[in-house]
Amino acid sequence: MAAKIIDGKALAARLRGAMADEVKQLVARSVRPGLAVVLVGDDPASQIYVRNKTKALAEAGFACFDHHLPADTAEDKLLGLVADLNADRAVDGILVQLPLPKHIDSKRVLLAIDPAKDVDGFHPENLGRLLIGEPRFVACTPYGIMKLIEEAGTTIRGANAVVVGRSNIVGKPVAVLLTNADATVTVCHSKTRDLPAVIGGADILVAAIGRPEMIRGSWIKPGATVIDVGTNRLSSGKLVGDVEFAAAVERAGAITPVPGGVGPMTITMLLANTLESARRRAG
Ligand code: NDP
Repeated sequence: MAAKIIDGKALAARLRGAMADEVKQLVARSVRPGLAVVLVGDDPASQIYVRNKTKALAEAGFACFDHHLPADTAEDKLLGLVADLNADRAVDGILVQLPLPKHIDSKRVLLAIDPAKDVDGFHPENLGRLLIGEPRFVACTPYGIMKLIEEAGTTIRGANAVVVGRSNIVGKPVAVLLTNADATVTVCHSKTRDLPAVIGGADILVAAIGRPEMIRGSWIKPGATVIDVGTNRLSSGKLVGDVEFAAAVERAGAITPVPGGVGPMTITMLLANTLESARRRAG
């Protein structure tokens, strides 16, 4: 039987609708949740990401403070802007779009963001808090992945979860979140031996690799919940995930499509983190 498709687009729309309602209530109390988005340079992909984020913010009634700086902006100038945004009461969250131009030390800039406004969840303080089970902001993609697993109706407690990929922004935080939710977690990477055998034991599979359809459908445990984070553009222009969808959908119990799975949830959780920060401001 074909798997249930976990519709990230529909879930994102539902969550954004509920957030828009809450934003209205906060605005009535003179607190409009606000996100500062900082873009340095003219990278076309970054410009598209920023445009999508600002559109989603506006639709849900958030304030968006756009800061588009030229590519030759000095690091000190950018750090000065971050300091100003840290001090600005109307700014609940700060997002510095990556990658930054090569002459700027990205780590230094991300470290300069007040952890209480780090709605991307990339600051080491927030990653550390996640590790000890006291999260403040969870990075948006991992946060969205947990919502999608919940949406599938999958029981996480006691499940065998396999995460393929160990990046700081996806694989590692997802592994921590699943561990904190009582799954038994295995993290795989490029040096993992016999990946098909490890994946074959997964009740929950999260694929965050960046290789088109590398995970074959036949490797998947029948009935598993599969979250495909990969976004790979083929030369034909088609967007595919890290999982061989056509075959996987016949074995899995539930699966996210690409596009329309994890992608829409990432921006949604950015709004959720900004709203959470504004709630704290509102007391
Ligand atoms: P990274 O390149 O940082 O990490 C990729 C991981 O995959 C690494 O840990 C790497 O292992 C592992 N890997 C590479 N090859 C293999 C292999 N043959 N077998 C097993 N593991 C392998 O990627 P990200 O985590 O940033 O992103 C992963 C994917 O998710 C990308 O396609 C990206 O575009 C997508 N993405 C989508 C988002 C969304 O909102 N939809 C958001 C963020 C990412 P090693 O550590 O050993 O090198």
